[in-house]
Amino acid sequence: MNLEDKCQEECAVFGVSCENEEASGIVYNGLLTLQHRGQEGAGIAISSGNNIEVHKGLGLVSEVFSNNILQDFKSNTAIGHDRYSTSGNNTIKNVQPFISDYFYSRFAIVHNGNITNAKQLRMDLEKDNITFEASSDTEIISKLITKETLKYNGEILSGVINACKKLEGSFCLLILCPDNKIIAVRDKNGYRPLCMGKNANGIAVSSESCALDTSAFEFVRDIEPGEVVVIENSKITFSDKPFEKVKSSLCIFEHVYFARPDSIIDGQSVYQARQNMGAILAQEAPAQADIVSGVPDSGIEAGFGFSKESGIPYENVFVKNRYIGRSFIYPTQMQRENAVTLKMNPLKSNIEGKSIVLVDDSIVRGTTVKKIIRTLRLAGAKEIHMRISSPKFLHTCYYGTDIDSEENLIANKFDIEEMCKQIDADSLAFISLDGLKKACENSKLGFCTGCFDGNYGSDITKIQNISKTRLEK
Ligand code: AMP
Repeated sequence: MNLEDKCQEECAVFGVSCENEEASGIVYNGLLTLQHRGQEGAGIAISSGNNIEVHKGLGLVSEVFSNNILQDFKSNTAIGHDRYSTSGNNTIKNVQPFISDYFYSRFAIVHNGNITNAKQLRMDLEKDNITFEASSDTEIISKLITKETLKYNGEILSGVINACKKLEGSFCLLILCPDNKIIAVRDKNGYRPLCMGKNANGIAVSSESCALDTSAFEFVRDIEPGEVVVIENSKITFSDKPFEKVKSSLCIFEHVYFARPDSIIDGQSVYQARQNMGAILAQEAPAQADIVSGVPDSGIEAGFGFSKESGIPYENVFVKNRYIGRSFIYPTQMQRENAVTLKMNPLKSNIEGKSIVLVDDSIVRGTTVKKIIRTLRLAGAKEIHMRISSPKFLHTCYYGTDIDSEENLIANKFDIEEMCKQIDADSLAFISLDGLKKACENSKLGFCTGCFDGNYGSDITKIQNISKTRLEK
């Protein structure tokens, strides 16, 4: 497998089993709500009693599915996927759901996460003459499930459980079977979120609770780390935790950046967590300023928290264009830098002559923050005090967060004083790791904080070096 071509999956999954034939429409709405987790491709698979059909494509959910397609795509049971990918591998072949055919039947699968022993698993499967079309982990999981299911005479639940015992890394999986069955699995560490909801029409499973709300499902509970749940004909027919028990380690960056603020993950409201981060930042690194503002979107709630705690009024300094997918990538650096205002135009009247505390969620390579500060300076800002609601990124992620390689992380190149100079801020501070954990203290799960402190909650010594590329923002 070409490792450069391997995708780092941030992604979203959504599935439903319901009484009427509207499953694909419900999944479509779920995927729209979860679009923030991936905009590169989308797909839905439906079961039709004895078969499975898939429709998928590159682009946003609304670009892949027209009303006509959905009207002809009727079923009681469906699963879907929003895909995030890195540059170089955004091909239709990697868009999910994947279908796997085997002697007895077929199934469709969607996945959020990153399998750390994918290379080894693929080599083992290839030795058995199993062939691959894509470069994604999900295809490997799908072929492994097929192989294990055949060992169990076509009994798919045993096949899924035994395949998952061989997987290392992070995975939330939904597997759709032709007989209106969905098998949902969350890896034993619980790196990525997965939850369930119900209404009079059926049961839904979602990466985040916000998509249950918007599809009119009442949140029931999170699927626990290491749990396998089977939903058949809108009822839960099986639930077990068949994997080795380990300390849970939800990715803490879900609370900082990935998840929508209206989601509740393992008992912790994302909105509250972000407000807490801002308040803790105001205590740990106070600043004198005329206004506080948050960088849209994931810096906003932390900005509110900073403002409330410090008593400095909150004002918007950017207006974001919400309708832009990806903008044209200009050929020269100068044009690219100017293009930042296409997505976020500065509100000059709130900026001119003001000293500003600006809160953003993270600094990875430093590219975004540099552009933002330049834009604010051009708009007449007097002082800019950057406050970051995550600690310094020092390590890579093996579990699905797309972080650049360690040598490209700005925090590995410079100390805070030099970083502050490089980005042209008047002051710069990051929340402490203890502060971040405190901000998320309502979570029922422990956290993976590997990208900040190298503590991944699992043994990473066996992980092969995964090379990464990262999309331009
Ligand atoms: P950078 O420009 O490399 O410093 O990246 C930091 C910016 O990218 C922040 O404004 C974040 O909102 C955003 N960001 C952080 N992590 C990710 C990620 N894994 N995928 C996409 N965007 C990210």
